[in-house]
Amino acid sequence: MSARGSEVSVFVRTRPTASFAQELIEYLPDGQTVNVRQWKESRKGVVNNQLNSWSFRLDGVLHDVSQEDVYARVGRGVVLRVLQGYNGTVMCFGQTGAGKTYTMTGATENYSQRGIIPRALQEVFREVEQRSDHTFTVHLSFLEIYNETLVDLLSSVRGCPGPGPGGMAVVEEPGGSVVVKGLSLHLVHSEVEALNLLFEGEMNRIIGAHSLNRNSSRSHCILTVHIESHSRTLSDAKYVTSTSKLNLVDLAGSERLGKTKSEGQVLKEAMYINKSLSFLEQAILALADRKRDHVPFRQTKLTHALKDSLGGNCNTVLVANIYGEAAQIEETLSTLRFASRMKRVRTDPALNEHINPVLQVLKLQKEIQLLKQQLSIHDTLANRTGMSYETLSETQVAEIQSQVQRYLEGSLEEINIVNIKQIQEVFAQFKVAIHPGGAVLGRQQEQRVRSQLCETYSLVEKTQSSSGTPVAKLQAPKSMVGEVEGCGFGVGVAAPSERHVRPVSPDRTRTRKTKELVSHGKKEATGAGRPAEDVSGPPSQREPEVYELETQDPPVLLPGPREPPRPDSPPSKTEAFEDFKAERGSEINRILKENKAVLLERRARLRELTDAINTAKTEIDHTSSALQQWRERRQSQGQFVSAQGELVLEEEELALVMRLQELKSRYRLLYEEQRSTKAEVSYCHHLVDQCRARLLTEFESWYNESFLLPEEVQAMLRTGGTIRPGLIPLDKALALEEDEQVRCERVRSERLADSPSAVSFYSAHMRSLQRRSVGRATPQTASQKRSPRDSGRTRLPAILTIM
Ligand code: ADP
Ligand code: MG
Repeated sequence: MSARGSEVSVFVRTRPTASFAQELIEYLPDGQTVNVRQWKESRKGVVNNQLNSWSFRLDGVLHDVSQEDVYARVGRGVVLRVLQGYNGTVMCFGQTGAGKTYTMTGATENYSQRGIIPRALQEVFREVEQRSDHTFTVHLSFLEIYNETLVDLLSSVRGCPGPGPGGMAVVEEPGGSVVVKGLSLHLVHSEVEALNLLFEGEMNRIIGAHSLNRNSSRSHCILTVHIESHSRTLSDAKYVTSTSKLNLVDLAGSERLGKTKSEGQVLKEAMYINKSLSFLEQAILALADRKRDHVPFRQTKLTHALKDSLGGNCNTVLVANIYGEAAQIEETLSTLRFASRMKRVRTDPALNEHINPVLQVLKLQKEIQLLKQQLSIHDTLANRTGMSYETLSETQVAEIQSQVQRYLEGSLEEINIVNIKQIQEVFAQFKVAIHPGGAVLGRQQEQRVRSQLCETYSLVEKTQSSSGTPVAKLQAPKSMVGEVEGCGFGVGVAAPSERHVRPVSPDRTRTRKTKELVSHGKKEATGAGRPAEDVSGPPSQREPEVYELETQDPPVLLPGPREPPRPDSPPSKTEAFEDFKAERGSEINRILKENKAVLLERRARLRELTDAINTAKTEIDHTSSALQQWRERRQSQGQFVSAQGELVLEEEELALVMRLQELKSRYRLLYEEQRSTKAEVSYCHHLVDQCRARLLTEFESWYNESFLLPEEVQAMLRTGGTIRPGLIPLDKALALEEDEQVRCERVRSERLADSPSAVSFYSAHMRSLQRRSVGRATPQTASQKRSPRDSGRTRLPAILTIM
């Protein structure tokens, strides 16, 4: 018998007899198969001598088997499983007198012939004593069902409270277990106490049979051992609940009504017995049929009381008690049929364990502590310091929130991973930050963006435009009057073709395009810059202009750090140039700096070479004069000639000659290098000049575009397309060449009439200006500049050309 997914175990036991019907009952050597034969019934006076035969395969045949062996094969497994927390049921079924009571209770006067119940009780208490890791609580109850009446066979025990006013009833509890309300439960501490209760109950059953005229063989008896166990150890913080119970069932005789030829009281008993056994059979059939949802347990007290003991969450064993005589073959056959049906019932025993929450918490706390210690050891071995596995404090959470915020804003490049808890919190903060459904930080960010916008613009909701399209109005602040179109770009309005920012105010002042915003513009916008130049009349006339942002979508109001609103007046060129170098012209400025660095390095080298050449020259001069002295001395003293007629020099003079040669050779090398270095310095100088010129030209161009040229012209120049008719200052381009102050005056005072030809002219002129500036700034390549002689000598670091 296994714990899970097993069938009901079914055994057959024959009552010993001297006249065993061997021709009708055959036990096969496998110990599990019973073959039964029966003469066919005589029909219409004709005797039929033919035999019918049936074969029943069960879990075991108990034929001429001692009580001890019966317990070992039938009872012990169930009892032990009950002690582990599984429900168990041992049940005897069969004809009256076939040995059910003998099997369950045994001969009470003979110890060796005691039945399953006393042996089970003995086993329970023996195990309880042996299992020192658990504490067990054992209760007994003894129920008799007689003619559908529930009888407490232990109600006579002293101190028993009695069934109460409502009497006894079978009640189902949440979770599916069944209890008999009003049935007395008796705490027992030992085998002796338990056996005393068993005998008391048996005695009451016999007394009832006599005094109340009850036939004990016609009642069902259920002795239940309720076992509860608790673990003594903290590590196993679970305990088995009292739902673990062992039902030991001695059923009433199963003989058929017709055969008993009963009448009166006996008939009534037989009817009840048949009814309950019939419903027991129906319940068994329903349990065996997996397709059936409903099992009719409630139809009788017996089936109802046995609901949680028949199949299901229970180890169930059935002993089918039969006679061995031929006269009882019909009942034997009936009993075996019931047994084989019972065998088809599948059980699914489950452990009835409940967790003690207090003990479980203690156990888990201990486990967490242990795991933290293990992690700590791990970190130490892995050389990881500063790891913490404690719950994050409020300060730590706030710090992580701040980090996430800065990360999202871009001011923090990355968030360092510290530990799991920190990672989890980072994720949580990200969720909070991006969750649109009202997360705190999300709202905070939204609020921040709004307030930033409100600092710059007054955002006024407009319900409907004249065309019915929802619009939003942008009110430019006073400091930005005259820069309204710049404002439109500054707030990140999308493609001009989709969204147009146009002034509502008829007083259209000069407009400027802010293609890229410089910090200067920011300063102006926040009022931190120079006093605003009066470009559009007196302040009273410069009321905030209202611009309509025509769009199908809600207004997109993005912060535009690179395109802040344009200032009222152009910044000074010196100031703007610094900003230009830092932003728009940063790349060319970088190239300029690098080329300057190369130039400086080459110049330094040139100085070194010049010094070295001068030194070499001085040494040459000294050596030459020393040698000259030697020559003069030789000429005055006479000179040595070898045998071959060759001039022989003294050692010192020879050293001077060699030194002079070496110096001259060095001088030549230095001179060559100086020459090429001079060329490189010159080249670098040229590149630096080109870079500088390019930087200045681009700055001029940017400055004019950003602060002096009208929006429409810039848009047209960018796209090469046409612009809508409007007021075009035609000679703005020419003003680029003029003095800044004069140009500003011209921009403010002059406007040209709307004219496509003027636009074309302006466009062409601007392009030629751009080409000219680019042409001036475009450097020659290194190969173009270097002479063929120099081209192979690439000792210089790479000279960066302007892209
Ligand atoms: P049931 O409870 O099924 O009506 P009992 O258990 O009372 O039948 O048995 C009827 C009689 O047969 C009893 O006197 C009992 O001692 C005897 N008996 C039954 N089975 C055995 C057996 N296996 N060995 C010895 N005696 C038995
Ligand atoms: Mg009996």
